Amino acid sequence: MNAPHRAAAAAPLPFYQPLADECEVFEAAWRQQLPLLIKGPTGCGKTRFVAHMAARLGLPLFTVSCHDDLSAADLVGRHLIAAGDTQWCDGPLTRAVRAGGICYLDEVVEARKDTTVVLHPLTDDRRILPIERTGEQLAAPPGFMLVVSYNPGYQHVLKTLKPSTRQRFVALAFDFPPPAVELTVLREEGGADEALARRLVALATQLRRLGGYHLDEAVSTRLLVYAAKLIASGMAARTACRVALVEPLSDEPDTLAALMAVVDTQF
Ligand code: ADP
Repeated sequence: MNAPHRAAAAAPLPFYQPLADECEVFEAAWRQQLPLLIKGPTGCGKTRFVAHMAARLGLPLFTVSCHDDLSAADLVGRHLIAAGDTQWCDGPLTRAVRAGGICYLDEVVEARKDTTVVLHPLTDDRRILPIERTGEQLAAPPGFMLVVSYNPGYQHVLKTLKPSTRQRFVALAFDFPPPAVELTVLREEGGADEALARRLVALATQLRRLGGYHLDEAVSTRLLVYAAKLIASGMAARTACRVALVEPLSDEPDTLAALMAVVDTQF
C-alpha cells in the first residue's frame, strides 16, 4: 500500500475521462497548496482520478487504503528492530511529505481517530507534520498535497468526518459518470464496442433506478467495466451480467431475481 508511483517521463497517463471541471479544480487546489476531499460512491473513479492527476502533474503518489485499525503510526512511521538495531522507518504520509508528492488516503473515515492529530497540522496553513517519536517537525514542500476520499453513502453513523476535519478541505462531489462518459469508459477500459457499451449503460441506468430499494450501493462503473471485459473476452452476456453486476450487489434471493429480471430486458 505504500509504494509510490512516479510517472515516468514517457509513460502514458492513466486513462481518465473527466466528468466536469474536476481536473482544473484539482490542479488549482494543488497550486494553492490546499488539501482536497473527494466524496462519492465506491467504484465511480475517485482513485483513477487521483492517479491521473498525479501523473499529469508529475508527482509521486502514495496511496493508503484506510481500514479501522489504521493508526497515526501507520501513516507517519515507526521504529523497527532489524538485526538487533532500532531503525526509524517512514510511513507513507511522511514519505509523501519528504518527496513533495501526493498522499491519497482512500476511505479516510475508516481510519482511527488518532490520525486526525497528524492530519490537522498538515491541512491548515502551517503545513507541518510533527513526528512525535523522533521529535522531528517536517515542513511540507510546495509540491505536497493531501487528498482524502470517502463514501458518504455508507451512512455509518459513527463513521463520518468530523466538521472540524472536513472544513479543512476543498471538496469535490463525485457520482457515477453520465451516460456519455460511461460509454467512453466502457469502450476504453472494458474493450466494449459501441453497441455493447450502449446496452450496458442502459442496463446500469435501469439497475441504478432500482438501487435505493433494497441495495446498500448501486452498480458501479467498476462493475460495468468488469462486465464489459468478460463479454468482450467471449463470455455470454447474461452470465457476465450475473457475475459482474448482480451477484456482487446482494445476497437476498428476491433482490437477485429482481435484478436478473432487469438484465433479461437488455440481454
Ligand atoms: P473509486 O476509487 O471511486 O472506488 P476507481 O477509481 O477505482 O473507483 O474506479 C473504478 C474503475 O472504474 C476504474 O478502474 C476505471 O476502470 C473505471 N472508471 C470510473 N470512472 C472513470 C473515469 N471517469 N475515467 C476512466 N475510468 C473510470
